[in-house]
Amino acid sequence: MWRWLNSAGEASSFNLGVGRGSLLVGLLLVGCQEPLPELSWSGDHVSFGTDSNEQICAGTLQALDDHANILFQLFDIEPHPIEFYWIQEPELYSDHCPPSYGCTTGVRVVSKSPVLFHEIVHAVVFDDIQGPTPFEEGLAVVYGNALLPLETLEPIEEVLGDFRDQDGSMGRFVHFLIEEHGLDSVLEFLAVAPARATKIVKYEAEFNAVFDESLETAIERFEQYRECDYKEVYRIMRGCQNEDVSPMIEGQWRFEVALDCSSSDVVGPHEGRVWTTRTFDLEQENLVTTSISSASTTTEARLLKCSSCSDALNRLYPVGDTTEVLPAGRYVLEVSTRVSEPSDVAIIVTPNF
Ligand SMILES: [Zn+2]
Repeated sequence: MWRWLNSAGEASSFNLGVGRGSLLVGLLLVGCQEPLPELSWSGDHVSFGTDSNEQICAGTLQALDDHANILFQLFDIEPHPIEFYWIQEPELYSDHCPPSYGCTTGVRVVSKSPVLFHEIVHAVVFDDIQGPTPFEEGLAVVYGNALLPLETLEPIEEVLGDFRDQDGSMGRFVHFLIEEHGLDSVLEFLAVAPARATKIVKYEAEFNAVFDESLETAIERFEQYRECDYKEVYRIMRGCQNEDVSPMIEGQWRFEVALDCSSSDVVGPHEGRVWTTRTFDLEQENLVTTSISSASTTTEARLLKCSSCSDALNRLYPVGDTTEVLPAGRYVLEVSTRVSEPSDVAIIVTPNF
């Protein structure tokens, strides 16, 4: 089911003519590949080109660039340029990617959406810490965005035994490894284990050495691991790293959001929706009322907590008032609407004691 989201490894491999199912695709591509459009925008790390005439929201390209920047820092990788192509023409897309939603060849992303952070992760780790394919996919899920449907979770030993792009399952396992062993250990494993390996035998020695436990033990512990919807954790990466934390003023956070594709902080469209986020720190557990007003009936506000699996929180608030006890921590409020229904949205977050 997840086959349409391909890994950097798989995409790279068809350029090299080796790897899973690659030879046929490689042969088909030779000699008949339409060139990608010219790059029309460049940020610090990401350059962008598209064949689309649709409007791209004003904050989108900067968001791609910011995402790459955060990942280069977080993963301690010397930054390299990334090319991102948003391609709408199906034939042009299939000239450059196998059936999928996006693919990455080295540092070149081809995507059906202008905001596919999953592929940015592949382009960032390319070469330095690519690691075995299932783990690279897991990392791309943890540090990507939740725009794509993920498959039903499967037992990890089956996923690793026969990896077929079960990215969601691997996202959850990689998240477990990050929580249990720390991000540095996961990055070390990706750096020392063979890039694009898919067979356990190829990387299990490195797994044992870096994590100081066998893969078998880790999988057993993972099965006992508390239930956690990985979607609650991974999609908020960017907002959680945000240094632009909104201050509380007179006991409230008040956010006035012009939720319109032309606003400089609005990202999208993806499947007809556009969004922006605000970040705030709740210093202690509190009974909090969140009031949302919008003229558009398609406005939604999602409150996410920057947290570990144990206290993950992901709530969709309707327009109106919602009151609930929230634990202390950093929160990201993601406000979205249909691109065709721009609206001024006012959000007031009030701790009650
Ligand atoms: Zn991927």
